[in-house]
Amino acid sequence: MNCDYLVVGAGFFGGVIAERIANELGRKVLLIDKRPHIGGNCYSETDADTGIETHKYGTHIFHTSEPEAWDYLKRFTELNGYYHQVLTTYKNKVYQMPINLETINSFYNLNLKPYEAKKFIASEISKEGISRPRNLEEKAISLIGRPLYEAFIKGYTIKQWRKDPTELPAEIITRLPVRFNYQETYFVNARWQGIPLNGFTEVFEKMLASPNIKLELNCDYFEHRDDFKVACQTIYTGPLDQFFAYRFGKLEWRTVNFKKEVKPVEDYQGTSVMNFADPEAEYTRVHEPRHLHPERSYSREKTVIFYETSGCGSNEPYYPINTENNLRLLRKYRELVKREQVIFGGRLGDYAYYDMDKTMLAALECFKNEIYPQDK
Ligand SMILES: Cc1cc2nc3c(=O)[nH]c(=O)nc-3n(C[C@H](O)[C@H](O)[C@H](O)COP(=O)(O)OP(=O)(O)OC[C@H]3O[C@@H](n4cnc5c(N)ncnc54)[C@H](O)[C@@H]3O)c2cc1C
Repeated sequence: MNCDYLVVGAGFFGGVIAERIANELGRKVLLIDKRPHIGGNCYSETDADTGIETHKYGTHIFHTSEPEAWDYLKRFTELNGYYHQVLTTYKNKVYQMPINLETINSFYNLNLKPYEAKKFIASEISKEGISRPRNLEEKAISLIGRPLYEAFIKGYTIKQWRKDPTELPAEIITRLPVRFNYQETYFVNARWQGIPLNGFTEVFEKMLASPNIKLELNCDYFEHRDDFKVACQTIYTGPLDQFFAYRFGKLEWRTVNFKKEVKPVEDYQGTSVMNFADPEAEYTRVHEPRHLHPERSYSREKTVIFYETSGCGSNEPYYPINTENNLRLLRKYRELVKREQVIFGGRLGDYAYYDMDKTMLAALECFKNEIYPQDK
């Protein structure tokens, strides 16, 4: 196919760009992805053992308050009305997350009113007298006090990072939300939230349906880079450092691993995501995707769950690590980007964590400001 544009990566950034070029500009796009599927990390598929729709790269919930993101997404799907809630198990008891009034009262066995709880937590924080936190542990204690830190943050962080929080830089966390009310909806400010009625993958199928888009899966840009050196504009959403052959060194990512298990019960844990704060449980979270689609009639005999562990068994880049060293490398790579004709974008191309709505908005902006004006 003669293409006007080459888009590397069929996740939300690449998908939105390809859709806009094909439908708004009427130009031909070659969209490649090294994986065997579209959708990037938002890819969903039906589990062959249970018929339950699962999210291969971790539970994804769409949530936004940005009308532009919602207006764009709703062209391809309706949402199913799912509201996200997160729970955490600590010492065999279940608490609400992020920490709210219910968590505080239940943990301390108190019945504080919001204004009393605020004072109470402030006094817990002041007991430690930390004004300049030197590491993640001190930072967390300076935000919520020691007992809540030791119960809900310490063990979880050790499992997430495989390091003691005293060895982790304070800048990894900027805040730990504490709600002094009983609000238990996780995405409390989202005007729109839920799961696409027919799953995320169908959103991408519809988005990429134009005959102007040619899709090549199992196609790694770096194996074919020279073939693509044709007169078409490239939009690259793969890893930033890889594009420059890791010239300054590798940008580090935190990775997670998922282990599937089919359970012979209708409902295993009563919720889609359960955190495990105790250091003894080796997994950080257990996902049960049947709860993401309460509107569907799934099997009553079995369910599927995924144990999530951190930092082992997978090379997938999931979360950027904002240490000083990584941010220094990032600045150096960004200098190289300025000299390239290629357009970089998406979470891998920017070395950033973006929610889906922010990724879509960034892609729409990129199309409007960088691609459309040059083409017209
Ligand atoms: C565990 C986890 C849970 C998340 N949950 C949520 C959530 O609940 N809600 C939310 O809004 N957001 C969530 N996100 C964020 C969401 O995944 C991102 O916003 C979204 O995936 C970003 O899209 P993208 O196109 O930038 O990147 P990706 O989806 O990663 O797509 C990039 C694509 O580029 C391809 N690629 C890379 N290198 C090459 C190459 N050399 N050649 C060809 N192709 C290549 C990759 O295979 C990939 O398909 C979550 C993220 C993680 C890690």
